[in-house]
Amino acid sequence: MRAFSPGRRSMLIVALVVLLGALGTGLASAALHSSAESWSRRAFAQKQDVIAKIVMAELFQYAVALTDLAASLSAQPEVTASAFATITAPVDSLRLPGATAVGYVVPAAPGDVPATQAEWRRRGSGDLALTLASADPGDHYFPVLGRSLDGGPNPLGTDLSATPEIVQVLRDTRLGNDVEASPAYRAVDGGELGFVMACPVFDQASRFLGWVTVTYRGRDFLGPAIGVIAGDQVGVVFADTSSGTPVTLATWPSPARGDPGQRLRRIGLPVDQPRWLLTVRPTVRLLPATERWLARGAAAIGSVLTVLLATLTATVVTSRDRALRRVGDATAELRRDIARREAVEQQLRVREEELVGFAGVVAHDLRNPLSNVIGYAELIHVADQGALSEKQRGYLTRVRGSAALMQRLIDDLLAYATADNATLRLTEIDLDEVVTGILAEREGAAATAERSALPTVVGDPTLIRQVLDNLIGNAIKYTPPERSAEIRIGAADTGAGYRIEVADRGIGIPEKQRAEVFNAFTRAEGSERYPGTGLGLAIVQRIVDRHGGEVGVGANPGGGSLFWFTLPKPTSGEMGG
Ligand code: ADP
Repeated sequence: MRAFSPGRRSMLIVALVVLLGALGTGLASAALHSSAESWSRRAFAQKQDVIAKIVMAELFQYAVALTDLAASLSAQPEVTASAFATITAPVDSLRLPGATAVGYVVPAAPGDVPATQAEWRRRGSGDLALTLASADPGDHYFPVLGRSLDGGPNPLGTDLSATPEIVQVLRDTRLGNDVEASPAYRAVDGGELGFVMACPVFDQASRFLGWVTVTYRGRDFLGPAIGVIAGDQVGVVFADTSSGTPVTLATWPSPARGDPGQRLRRIGLPVDQPRWLLTVRPTVRLLPATERWLARGAAAIGSVLTVLLATLTATVVTSRDRALRRVGDATAELRRDIARREAVEQQLRVREEELVGFAGVVAHDLRNPLSNVIGYAELIHVADQGALSEKQRGYLTRVRGSAALMQRLIDDLLAYATADNATLRLTEIDLDEVVTGILAEREGAAATAERSALPTVVGDPTLIRQVLDNLIGNAIKYTPPERSAEIRIGAADTGAGYRIEVADRGIGIPEKQRAEVFNAFTRAEGSERYPGTGLGLAIVQRIVDRHGGEVGVGANPGGGSLFWFTLPKPTSGEMGG
C-alpha cells in the first residue's frame, strides 16, 4: 500500500474535519429546522381550528338571531309595522356585526301589487309605494317593513327581483324554514359588496307569509373577533364562491410577510352555506423569532466552529509536518556528517599508517649512518691520548651524547611503528622470568624492587617484555638521582584476566596530565630534567591495546606513580598460531 505524503495526509485530515463539522452542523440545523417546522405546522393548525370555530359560532349566532325574528313574527296574529318595530328593536349591528338593515319582504305578482301596497299601508307601513322593476309576470319581491341598523337609508317598496342574488335566496328559503345567505352582490347605490340572509315566516297554520331578511355589508361581516385571534400570525380571507371565482367579502390581512415555507389552507364552512370559503394564510410571525433563527443560528455557529476547528487542525498538522521535516533534515544532515567524519577518519588512519611506516623506514635507514657516527666518535674517544685539546674533548662529548639520544629516538620510533604493524606471536610468558631479566639488565641502577609472585600470561613475549621494560625503566628514571628508586611490582587475577602494576616513589605525574602521557611525544610537567622522547608510554598503550587489554596510571599512595595494565586470559582456540 502506498503511503500518503505528509502534505496530502494533512490535507486529508483537514478535509475530514471540515466534512465532519459540516455534517454535524447540517444535522443539527436540519433537526432544529424540522422541529421548528413541525412546531409551526401545529401552531398553524391550532390557529385554523380556532378561527374556523369562531366563524362557525358567529354564523350560528346570525342564523339563530334571524330564526328568532322569524319565530317572533310567526307568533303575531298579524304582522304589523308596530309589531315589527317591537320585535326588531333589540337587533343592532353590535349583536350582528356587519348587519346594515333588517326587513320584512313579501312576494306579489304584478297584478297583486296595488292590493299588497294598500294592505301594508293599512298595517302601518306609512306611505309605502311598491314599484315594479320589470313587467315579469311572475312573483316580485318587495320589502314592506324595515329598520336601518347603521343609520343609512332603508328604502321600502323597491322591487328586489332586480337583484338576482336576492331572488335566489328568497326562492331557495321559501320551501324550507332554514336561514340562508344570498350570493355576494354589489349594491347598486353604495357599490359595497354585501349579501342578504333570509328566513321564511309562516303563520300558525303554516301558511307562508314572507321573509325576514338581514342585509350585510361584507367588510364588517363577522366583526373584529377574527382579527384579534389572527393577530399578525395569519392572514384571513372570507370569500363567497357562488359565482365560481371567489369574491372576497371580508379580509383580516396581517401586517407580517407571508411564510413561503407554509402553504395556505382553505376551509369550507358547511353551515347551510357551502359556498363560503375561509382562507387562512400563515405568516413568518407564526413561529417565535427565536425558533425561526435557531436553525440558522445553529448553522452559523456550527460553520464558525468548523472553520475554527479546521484552522486549528491545519495549524497543528502543518506544524507537526514542519517538525517532522526538520527532524528528517536534521537526521539527513547527521548522516552526512557521520559519513564525512568516517571518510576523514579513514583518511587519517591511512595517513597515520603512512606516517608510521615512513617513520619506520626513515628510522631504519638512519640507523646505519648513525652507527657510523657513534662508532667513529667512540674511536676518537678511545684513540685520544691527550692529542685533543680540552675544548675539542668537550665537542666530542656533545657529539657522543647527541648521537646516543638520536639512537634512542630512532629505536623508540621503530618500536612505535612495529608495535602497531608486527604480527602478534602469542605464547605463554612467565612474567616472573621476564621481570627478573629486566632487573638484571638494570643491575647498575640504584634501585630496590619489591615483587609479589607474578603469573604466567599469554601474549607476544617480545612486546610484553617491552611494556614491562618501559614501565620499570620509567620508574627508575623518574626518581630523583639523589635517591635510590623503590619499585614495587605486583599482579592480581581479575577472573577475566590479570592486572599487573608497577609502582614507584618517583616524581609522580600531575593528575590532569595522567591521561595525556600515553599520547606520542607527550611529556608531563616536571620531567624536563630527565632524558626522554615521549614515545615509551605510547608504545606501551599500543601493545596493550593489541593484546585486548587496558592501561592507565594513578597516584601511588604515599608518593610516586602507579602504572597498571591488564591482559585478558585467552579463550580456547586463540593460542593456535
Ligand atoms: P619518556 O621517554 O619521556 O620517558 P614516556 O612515554 O615513557 O616518555 O613517558 C611520557 C612522560 O610520562 C614522561 O615524559 C614523564 O613526564 C611521564 N612519566 C612516565 N613515567 C613516569 C613515572 N614513572 N614517574 C613520573 N613521570 C612519568
